[in-house]
Amino acid sequence: MAVYAILMGAQGSGKGTQAAIVGPELKLAKIATGELFRSAIAARSELGLQVEGLLARGELVPDDVTNAIVRERLASIVAQVRSGDDAVRGALFDGFPRNVAQAAALDGIFADLGETLTIVIEIDVPRAALIERLAGRRTGARTGTIYNVNGLSDEEIAAFGEELIQRDDDQPEAIARRLAIYDEQTAPVLAYYAGRGLVTRVNGDQDVEAVTAEIREAIASRVAAKVS
Ligand code: AMP
Repeated sequence: MAVYAILMGAQGSGKGTQAAIVGPELKLAKIATGELFRSAIAARSELGLQVEGLLARGELVPDDVTNAIVRERLASIVAQVRSGDDAVRGALFDGFPRNVAQAAALDGIFADLGETLTIVIEIDVPRAALIERLAGRRTGARTGTIYNVNGLSDEEIAAFGEELIQRDDDQPEAIARRLAIYDEQTAPVLAYYAGRGLVTRVNGDQDVEAVTAEIREAIASRVAAKVS
C-alpha cells in the first residue's frame, strides 16, 4: 500500500533529521519545500532569485509558488509508485503544508491524483528546547549534514571534517519570526488534520533514534489499520 505522510513540527523539532532517516528506510520520497527552495537559490534559477529574500528573512514563499512545486513533485512520485518501481512506496512531506490554505490545496492535489493522505505526524518539542537547538544548528558545507554545535569544543567541531555554515534564517531574529509564523499559521494545520483523525503525536524531546522508532511505529500502525 502506498504511504503519504506529513511530518509536522516547529522549526528545530527534528523534521529534517527524521525525514532523512525515515524516508530512505520506508522508501518514501521526500518533499521538503525548504530544501527545494534552497537548491533553487544555490542554482541561481528564476525560482531561486524570486524566493531568496523571503527565505533570508524567514518569511513564507507565496502559496501559489509553493503549491505548484508540490503538485509537480507529488505527481511524479505517484507516477513512480504506480509504475511498480520498488524503490518508491510513497512520499514524506517535510515543511509543507505550512498554513491551512496549503493544506486545503494539498487535499485538492491528492484528489486530482486519486490518492489520499495516510498520516500526519506531529513531532512535539518544548519551545525552550527548540530555541536552543536552532541557535546551535549548523549545516555541513560539503555533505549538507545537519549538526548541532551546542556544548561542543572547537576540537569536536573540527572533527566533523567539513566547514559548518549557519543558515541565515537560524539567526536569532529570523528564528523568532519563524516560530511566530509557526504559531499563527502552521499550528492551525494540525487542528485541520486532527479534526479528520489523521494526527499522531510523537515525543521529539528524546534521542534521534527514539523519535525515529516512534515515527516508524506510528506509520506502521496507521497502515495496518487502513489495510484491515
Ligand atoms: P525549512 O527548511 O522547512 O525551515 O524552510 C525554510 C524556508 O523556506 C521557510 O522559512 C520559508 O521561507 C520557505 N518555505 C519552506 N516551506 C514552505 C512552505 N510550505 N510555504 C512557504 N514557504 C516555505
